[in-house]
Amino acid sequence: AEPAVKYKRVLLKISGEALMGDQGYGLHPPTVARIAREVQAVHALGVEICMVIGGGNIFRGLAGSAQGMERTTADYMGMLATVMNALGMQAQLEALGLHTRVISAIPMDQVCEPYIRRRAVRHLEKQRICIFAAGTGNPYFTTDTAATLRANEMNCEAIFKGTKVDGVYDKDPKKFADAKRYDTVSYDECLQKNLGVMDASAIALARDNNLPIIVFSLDEPGGFRGILAGQGTYTKVV
Ligand code: UDP
Repeated sequence: AEPAVKYKRVLLKISGEALMGDQGYGLHPPTVARIAREVQAVHALGVEICMVIGGGNIFRGLAGSAQGMERTTADYMGMLATVMNALGMQAQLEALGLHTRVISAIPMDQVCEPYIRRRAVRHLEKQRICIFAAGTGNPYFTTDTAATLRANEMNCEAIFKGTKVDGVYDKDPKKFADAKRYDTVSYDECLQKNLGVMDASAIALARDNNLPIIVFSLDEPGGFRGILAGQGTYTKVV
């Protein structure tokens, strides 16, 4: 029997770097396929799934502007990078027989759907996985903020932030053996101590709308499904 799941609709946020595997850059299709299987396992529980994928494996606005590009132009390049990642993820999800839509904040009708809120909600109701691309469509934002925005708009019960570690620690667990993981931590503590869960605007937007952020390890096989089924370790930011 399937475990009882208390979530009906969630948003999974992953960084672009999660898609690059052991490469230093870009997309590694077998890694994308592995994450797609994690998503498939949650979809099989009947959970409606939104996804936001970063673009840092291809291009980051800040890096471009540090090298002399205009920040806004560099940010648009970053947003376009997220569209490539979204298409790469869509391909792997569809290879598993799942129904998906890539929905871009910047219209590019030949490539994917434009973002129309009510249409996206309808896709979710029909069990289609919605991959929100191009961030918020605005420079000076990040895909963490985009994830929080879309999770609010889609009435998701929580954001699941898949990372390389199984939660939020008081210091870097890869550097300090005595680092302690929080079971729960407040938005304000994350902001005050700069715990690196998400950027400050994303955390504030989640806080102001009571949207929990669940930080978990995407490297743990079956980890995403486990957490939705009430198992495994994670940190809940509330
Ligand atoms: N970006 C943006 N507006 C948004 C979302 C993203 O300008 O609403 C740009 C920004 O330049 C950012 C890049 O897209 O550096 C890639 O996104 P992000 O850094 O959030 O990706 P991640 O670190 O999650 O891979």
